[in-house]
Amino acid sequence: MILKPHPQSPFINHQSTTANILFLNSQHSMPPFFFSNSTPKPFLLYSKFKSLLFPIMSHSTTTTTTKTRLRGVVFDMDGTLTVPVIDFPAMYRAVLGDDEYRRMKDDNPSGIDILHQIDNFPPHKQRHAYATIADFERQGLDRLQIMPGAAELCGLLDSKKIRRGLITRNVKSSVDLFHERFGITFSPALSREFRPYKPDPAPLLHICAAWEVQPSEVIMVGDSLKDDVACGKRAGAFTCLLDETGRYDSPEYADVEFKPDFKVASLADVYSILEEHFDLSP
Ligand SMILES: [Mg+2]
Repeated sequence: MILKPHPQSPFINHQSTTANILFLNSQHSMPPFFFSNSTPKPFLLYSKFKSLLFPIMSHSTTTTTTKTRLRGVVFDMDGTLTVPVIDFPAMYRAVLGDDEYRRMKDDNPSGIDILHQIDNFPPHKQRHAYATIADFERQGLDRLQIMPGAAELCGLLDSKKIRRGLITRNVKSSVDLFHERFGITFSPALSREFRPYKPDPAPLLHICAAWEVQPSEVIMVGDSLKDDVACGKRAGAFTCLLDETGRYDSPEYADVEFKPDFKVASLADVYSILEEHFDLSP
């Protein structure tokens, strides 16, 4: 019997979960029909009556817990490692036009995937759209600032020998500038030249493969529910949403497909969450 680790359960040691089931079989008073046949082995009991055992199991697992060993943290860049300086609504309006922007915003309450939209444009319109985005990104670079708490968090991760990666939908030259300007390096650092980009899980899976770790040993930290959290959850990683303004508390995000495991208002709060919920031993 293999219980597949589920990334939404950071507190469950799945090996001891198996032990729990066996323990429960022998210790719990079962309904009489449990033993009406010749006494089955615990494994058979489990497979036969797993629907009965699951409620007990989920209840019991809170008592025996082992934290997941954290092997790596993958960060988003814009708005996560750097202070948000790109006016995304203005950028989307410039690319799509006012009417199309309004229509798409209504159709996509959790956010517009502008790069995906551009992929469907005819070539001449695509070139213009990328030039517009590049303008906004260039203006952003002029005002680039590191996010408060980012350098300290990276220092703490380094002290635990926990790897740091980066996934952004920005271009490679922006990542290079970030590395240069702030002297903190992320590796691998995947920009939008890596296809498919977030919210596809591919970049995160690529990083996990490069690190030779499982996605379930990694946490993705980012400020976008539709890109960072979706990418992380699709890959099977833990996710931490940075929500500085509390905008994701709004009811429009209540029914989104992918929800973060953790939510913080500041990068300064990330390390204490990691310490509390994960094994950070090198
Ligand atoms: Mg971001």
